[in-house]
Amino acid sequence: MRNTTITINQTALAHNLSTIKHTLNPDRPAKVLAMVKANAYGHGISHTLSGLGEADAFGVACMSEALEVQEVCQTLDMDKPIVLIEGVFGFDEWQLAREHGFGCVIHNTAQLNFAIKHPAKPDSFTRTVWLKYNTGMNRLGFDKDGVICAAKALHQAGYKLILTSHFACADEPNHPITAKQIARFDEILHILRTDIDTDIQASLCNSAGIFSQPDCHHDWVRAGIALYGGKAVADRTAYELGLRPAMTFGASIFATHQLRTGESVSYGGLWTADKPAQIGVLSVGYGDGYPRVVNGAKVLIIKENQPYFVPIIGRVAMDTMMIDISDLSLNVGDEVLLWGDGLPAHQVASWANTIDYELFCKTTNRPTRRTVV
Ligand SMILES: *Cc1c(COP(=O)(O)O)cnc(C)c1O
Repeated sequence: MRNTTITINQTALAHNLSTIKHTLNPDRPAKVLAMVKANAYGHGISHTLSGLGEADAFGVACMSEALEVQEVCQTLDMDKPIVLIEGVFGFDEWQLAREHGFGCVIHNTAQLNFAIKHPAKPDSFTRTVWLKYNTGMNRLGFDKDGVICAAKALHQAGYKLILTSHFACADEPNHPITAKQIARFDEILHILRTDIDTDIQASLCNSAGIFSQPDCHHDWVRAGIALYGGKAVADRTAYELGLRPAMTFGASIFATHQLRTGESVSYGGLWTADKPAQIGVLSVGYGDGYPRVVNGAKVLIIKENQPYFVPIIGRVAMDTMMIDISDLSLNVGDEVLLWGDGLPAHQVASWANTIDYELFCKTTNRPTRRTVV
């Protein structure tokens, strides 16, 4: 069988969640909304939720994800609130959200009107609205006047409120936009608590904010990439933050060739042997979710307990890629790590000009996916 695997480590997920919880103020710990949108950042909902049993709620981006998370939760006997972090995309979805008890972000007038005209059941989680304020990301949310009006209307209709907003640049230390966003958020939160209800809650931080803005944790943090052991902030690696990679992407050598000087490798002939070379062919390519890089990137091979970072040569193809194994004695069947422990996905992402979030999301169904504890 083709040996291409994606392994999701439940212990690493639980460890990362616990590491996040340890950064929270112990006197008044925020709750953790574990972001499992986009199929748990490509890790697979069904492969991920059991590692996140200590989360306070799950966050998703659309109704189909919410329904899947609810179904998997039921099979695991987990009863957790699920939040649609972009809210509903139409009235039919508002009805579904009420039926299933999903929490909703409200970021526009259409959503606000559904909630006011067709109120959620008093004891359901839908009765708590995540009211989105646009503090400077300029993606979703009400402006200053709009958010105050919306808060008043929702409060009057019997909803509990969580004021929420999203950082644009929290991964970069001391970015001026972050300070501006915090000031705007705090100003409105103060107004809402003074004029409407002192119990109004707040949620501002994503993973980057959790680690870089300890004074902004408020009542809920929304942890995504850090749960998966990815890179949350620019100035510290996941390893330095005590996070472990949840995903291990592996393959193996399934052919080898001896090349003469001057022979080139793969589509476009973009790598040429300048001396006789031994190459290995790996059972993995962009059809599995590895980025379509040319030269430069490396894979990790552990041989007799020694790590070797071995260069990918030529262009990555759909089903295969080639590595230069001239300096190592490697054989068909030897295993190779694309990313995971010892070779973080954010390192591969930097070779591919992207971020680990995207690499995770783009892993496909073809690798054999399994969980380990
Ligand atoms: C995806 C998302 C998060 C999580 O972001 P990370 O950077 O992965 O921690 C938090 N909040 C919102 C609104 C999101 O869309």
